Amino acid sequence: MPEAGSLLSLRGVGPAVAERLSRLGIERPLDLLFLLPQRYEDRTRVVALGSLRPGQRAVVEGEIALADVAFRRRRSLLVRLTDRTGQLTLRFFHFSRAQQDNLVAGARLRCYGEVRPGPLGNEMVHPEYRVLAAGQTLPLDERLTPVYPAVEGLAQFRLRDLTGQVLDRLLPRLTDELPDAGIRGPALPGLAEALRYVHRPPAGADLQLLSSGMHPCQRRLALEELLAQHLSLRQIRERARQDTAVSLAAGADRARQLRQEFLASLGFELTAGQRAALADIDADVASGCPMMRLVQGDVGCGKTVVAAAAALLAVAHGHQVAIMAPTELLAEQHRDSFFRWFRPLGITVAWLSGSLGQKARTQTYAAIEDGTAEVIVGTHALFQENLRYRSLALVIVDEQHRFGVHQRLKLMDKGANGNGRELKPHQLVMTATPIPRTLAMTLYADLDSSVIRELPPGRQPVNTVALSDRRRPEVVERVQAAIRSGARVYWVCPLIEESEHLESEAAEPTAAALAEALPDVRVGLIHGRMAPADKEKVMKAFAQGKVQLLVATTVIEVGVDVPAATLMIIENAERLGLSQLHQLRGRVGRGRDSSTCVLLYRSPLAAMARARLDVLRGTNDGFEVAQRDLELRGPGEVLGTRQTGQMQLRVADLVRDADLMPVVQELAQKLADRPALAEELMQRWIGTGSRYGEV
Ligand code: ADP
Ligand code: MG
Repeated sequence: MPEAGSLLSLRGVGPAVAERLSRLGIERPLDLLFLLPQRYEDRTRVVALGSLRPGQRAVVEGEIALADVAFRRRRSLLVRLTDRTGQLTLRFFHFSRAQQDNLVAGARLRCYGEVRPGPLGNEMVHPEYRVLAAGQTLPLDERLTPVYPAVEGLAQFRLRDLTGQVLDRLLPRLTDELPDAGIRGPALPGLAEALRYVHRPPAGADLQLLSSGMHPCQRRLALEELLAQHLSLRQIRERARQDTAVSLAAGADRARQLRQEFLASLGFELTAGQRAALADIDADVASGCPMMRLVQGDVGCGKTVVAAAAALLAVAHGHQVAIMAPTELLAEQHRDSFFRWFRPLGITVAWLSGSLGQKARTQTYAAIEDGTAEVIVGTHALFQENLRYRSLALVIVDEQHRFGVHQRLKLMDKGANGNGRELKPHQLVMTATPIPRTLAMTLYADLDSSVIRELPPGRQPVNTVALSDRRRPEVVERVQAAIRSGARVYWVCPLIEESEHLESEAAEPTAAALAEALPDVRVGLIHGRMAPADKEKVMKAFAQGKVQLLVATTVIEVGVDVPAATLMIIENAERLGLSQLHQLRGRVGRGRDSSTCVLLYRSPLAAMARARLDVLRGTNDGFEVAQRDLELRGPGEVLGTRQTGQMQLRVADLVRDADLMPVVQELAQKLADRPALAEELMQRWIGTGSRYGEV
């Protein structure tokens, strides 16, 4: 008998399934309780055809008025379904003889699918359907159907069964920490009630409210998750305060001299923001406590230079610096910068990435262990288990939100061993994601923060325009013209579906269509389902100009620098979060030439969506974008895309739930003398294994 705390104790879970679940961070039955649905399907009622709206997923029933094979662009089977209120076209691109025989005029159908606008009015492409016998009625679901995050090799019905098991088994025994502590906070439901509702909403539940994430049951869970994250960060912070670190005085001779030489070699002056950030860092690293500092600044504000100036301090004092980027490509970019800047200063820069050959790796490891390597640039490879640093005094992590929040802490354990004393390295984290202050206070509670607000002088702001996608032909011409004059162009197709499986589909047809429309343009394609090595190959080809037009899902790497890229088209822009749009837009405007970002939207555009796109047209300041995003996202607004990337949160959304932050802070205070409760909350939301690993 497997013990009750093991996944293997669940019906239908053997070692293989447990393995797959663990890839999602699910190690215990309890973790399944906190695997929350991404969205819901409403199969609890039949929707009248006349009241269907594009974008809606619905169960419909009707009678086939007409079925026909059409040969326009692609051979397809068109079925016109009618009921008393209206009609709907079902469209099948792939269909069998048997299907064709079943779908004939007069037959009655029950279908489920997504409604899209089509040439003949509303349609469903490849709906699920059942043919009904005369007089037959099919039962409807009693609850909304949860759709869980995709787990490779596990079908949704399995996930539903597993979550059903843990709801039955664990909910009755679950303790609710917040009322226990007498500190429930705002009027929100209890934990068990919230979990049951979110996993299995009853028929009639407000789907709009649920998909906006603003249902009180979701808010209750969000509050708890934010609290757990906050507590864990505070804990880290407390522990760090008790650690000692090498003191790196910026005033020491060698430090002063290296920095002067470096700054003189740059050929530009630091901006005021860069100087201020550097002053913060200098003060931190001199203190004898480990620095834990976040440098925030918009793309292109020059964070790397600041990082380099900080790195020199450690080198000047005879210690090592590790600089980590989330992808090979970004790491390579840093490697090139640090080679260029530091080699002339006589500093040894080493490169460590997962793709390094065995021999090179062995050599690099040796150089890191014996201290020959002073500055080490790389990817996750920097914190491999068996890698030892001779004297690591500073860890620099770029584009922090791409790493799990707790992941970087692994590097901290590689601290310098200063003559028998255990020393923690200083930590510098850089992010281009602008974080409003209340959020930073809560979710970067372990870090102090410096903000670089201005871009270096002479930078051209990106000119942003919003166009209806009816004007797509004009846009394609514009792309053609831009490429003729030597520019490189991004064409971004956000994935509309949240399912990973559709990710490539968002971009592939567009890439094909563009290649056809622009025969003399070299078109490349990049999307999330490609292997990392293939992605990098494409990005490189684009950087080198071998690819001129890059069609991409939103995976385009944060921080990738292709100065020749001066035009970006973003499709379905109205579906993306403002901050995400701003991040994407930051891929252009990195060179001397002026750049344009075209936001294509599907008309008609709702007033709110219009207001959001106007924000982007109006400003290039990431902080302002973040702030306005916060203001504009009112309760009840349905967002197509979750804010991704900043922190791996399950229910909470940093922007949407910003108003909970003061409550989180207050609750955390109250829990200060209830360490057992705090620990329980952290266990629940963050888990044990993942505290220091990938979240
Ligand atoms: P990010 O903050 O996005 O990481 P980078 O550090 O990559 O920005 O800097 C973007 C570009 O601006 C680089 O080419 C860098 O050399 C240049 N740069 C940085 N600081 C300045 C400055 N003060 N004046 C002029 N150019 C600068
Ligand atoms: Mg950068």
